[in-house]
Amino acid sequence: MATTPLAANEIADLALRLNRMTRNLWWTWDQDAQDLFQELSPRGWQNLYHNAVAVLHEVSEYELRVRLQDQDFTDRVRRVLRNFEAYMQRQDTWAAKHAPQLATRPVAYFSAEFGFHETLPIAAGGLGVLAGDHAKSASDLGLGFIGISLFYREGYFMQSFNEENWQTEYYSLLDPRNLPLDPVLNARGEPIVCTVRIAASTVSFKVWRVNVGRCPVYLLDTDLPENEPHYRDLTLRVYGGDSTTRIMQEVLLGVGGVRLLRALGHQPSVFHLNEGHAAFLTLELVREKMAEGKSFDVAMAETKPECIFTTHTPVEAGHDRFTCDLMKYAAHKFCRQLQLTQEQLMALGRVRPTDATEPFCMTVLALKLSRAANGVSELHGQVSRKMWQTLYGAQNEKDVPLGHVTNGVHLLGWMKGSVRQFWRRKLNGSGASAPNGGAAANARIWQDEVNTPEFWARIADPSFVSDEELWALRFQLRRELIEFTRRRLLLQGERLTRTAFIEYDHLLNPDALTIGFARRFATYKRATVIFKQFDSILTLVHDKRRPVQFIFAGKAHPRDDEGKKLIQYILHLSKHSELHGSLVFIENYDIHVARQMVSGCDVWLNNPRRPLEASGTSGMKAAINGCLNFSIMDGWWREGYDGTNGFAIGDDTHPADVAEQDRRDSENLYRVLTEEVIPCFFNRDANGVPHQWIRRIRSAMKTLVPQFNTDRMVREYATKYYCPAE
Ligand SMILES: *Cc1c(COP(=O)(O)O)cnc(C)c1O
Repeated sequence: MATTPLAANEIADLALRLNRMTRNLWWTWDQDAQDLFQELSPRGWQNLYHNAVAVLHEVSEYELRVRLQDQDFTDRVRRVLRNFEAYMQRQDTWAAKHAPQLATRPVAYFSAEFGFHETLPIAAGGLGVLAGDHAKSASDLGLGFIGISLFYREGYFMQSFNEENWQTEYYSLLDPRNLPLDPVLNARGEPIVCTVRIAASTVSFKVWRVNVGRCPVYLLDTDLPENEPHYRDLTLRVYGGDSTTRIMQEVLLGVGGVRLLRALGHQPSVFHLNEGHAAFLTLELVREKMAEGKSFDVAMAETKPECIFTTHTPVEAGHDRFTCDLMKYAAHKFCRQLQLTQEQLMALGRVRPTDATEPFCMTVLALKLSRAANGVSELHGQVSRKMWQTLYGAQNEKDVPLGHVTNGVHLLGWMKGSVRQFWRRKLNGSGASAPNGGAAANARIWQDEVNTPEFWARIADPSFVSDEELWALRFQLRRELIEFTRRRLLLQGERLTRTAFIEYDHLLNPDALTIGFARRFATYKRATVIFKQFDSILTLVHDKRRPVQFIFAGKAHPRDDEGKKLIQYILHLSKHSELHGSLVFIENYDIHVARQMVSGCDVWLNNPRRPLEASGTSGMKAAINGCLNFSIMDGWWREGYDGTNGFAIGDDTHPADVAEQDRRDSENLYRVLTEEVIPCFFNRDANGVPHQWIRRIRSAMKTLVPQFNTDRMVREYATKYYCPAE
């Protein structure tokens, strides 16, 4: 039956709303929305790296008008828009009940990096991804939340390799017009410009707003003509440059962030410092109070109750320390503003205030000026209490006021599209979802129930989904990853000949047990441990009946030669050893590569030197998609592992001696791999289904997913720290 064409004003309305929706990162965790853009331009979606804003720019107004005459497509556009608009306006949120005071006086969350999505590469790693996931869950929960960070117009570096397999870095410029970024304007419609004093200069910055669902995240940007050239480049790169750039970026983030909030008329009830980089914000809060006539001591005492601080690493290099000279040069304004001598200022960042040899540590400043502080897992809480015991002059580690909130991941953001489709088909088919199958009710299920233990207990139950079905899903995901990897390696090789295409189409084995390892190549993560017993690994890889293969990815910090050597070694093995074809390295690890890997691998390998992995989050992403963790008992895994939901390397202890630890872990790793992981994976029934393996997947979904997500984490921050019961 023919339908009446849409009227011009209806089309204009849909186009406008669609446009508005692309400017909100909500679509990055809504599969239906992403499907629309992929359908609008399949090739564009891939080439523009899943950027809905850019895809919509690619499609002419005329084409969009014409395509909206397809009623089926338009129905889906309408449904997605209705879900988006309902999401934005929703009143009955978790926070409306449990944290209503934050609605008028929000949490201001400061983080030097935010990782939201591959189109906005302004994060270096786990810290940024955690901040992005925190913001998404804050939005889902309806929490009053504002994020503050910097707009790095060259983002984080891109990775390539020279003939010696040595990592080299390059950068590409981000174009705000093609990104979900809105310039922040004042009442007259002009860009808001604020200033901070850095060294001897006044530095101006403008601001971009990222809409993360209901929560704004503001990105400060010094690229303005009125700034001296080197200050224009202050926000060029994530952690770019030397420690001078670093301290200046941190003055901008801390002081500039508070200035911006005031310019926008915000009076946050809590300032949450995500890592020490933002700690200068405390000094700006003190300055504000002194400007009202209060003494330094009173201003300090009033600032402390406003701030909470999360520390993220026990690794020494992870704590910014600045020399007295650098402080004098870059941050001397604090002295005048706070009426302090240089020594008094330095004392604020020292464990032993009068020790002139001690540099200024941002973590110390943050700890001193926060009413509460926390680590990011139980073990990391313990380790941090020990680490900072002297600062608090505590007799006993237990008396150090440093708690923990274990990290999480944003569940829908990390559930691969095909996994979500799988569950959705199952839910719709079983009639287990909305009684009337309504789209709105369905959206609610995904929004509200997906974080609950009941949801995962139900869908992971054999009476709801069979072993055969789950095994089929695992095969689909592994194949998707392998095809993605082949395409990436083909492009990495830059040999787009016909034979190269054929060659790469045979790389990796879709039936093999696929072990993934992707993370920053910091040395404590020990990327190459598994190859220590090289001959044994070769035997495993070449076992025709039970083949095993490895996919690696990750970046080393540009100045970390030790990390670069580890990558070089893996690349070398992948090209020139008998592991060729069974070991690959994907370049340019980022959120998209992570999403492919944590879903398509069967096993997620994590072998840090204990207790240096404060939490780790990639393994949580793996659990959502049915990939099993195979990990040292460090960080979150120590809390997550229960004997049935993955595999543990070693136990809840570690020797003090590092060499001894490395030796022991390598042995345990190999033993568990050969005695537990491989036999379990290849123990198949007559139909080829590994029932014990799938039992572990079900157990992982039930026990890990409802616990290690950012909904739980943000609720915990809210009840414990943002709005504690008096
Ligand atoms: C999740 C994630 C990380 C952090 O993972 P870890 O397990 O903490 O190493 C780092 N980088 C990217 C791109 C991620 O998605």
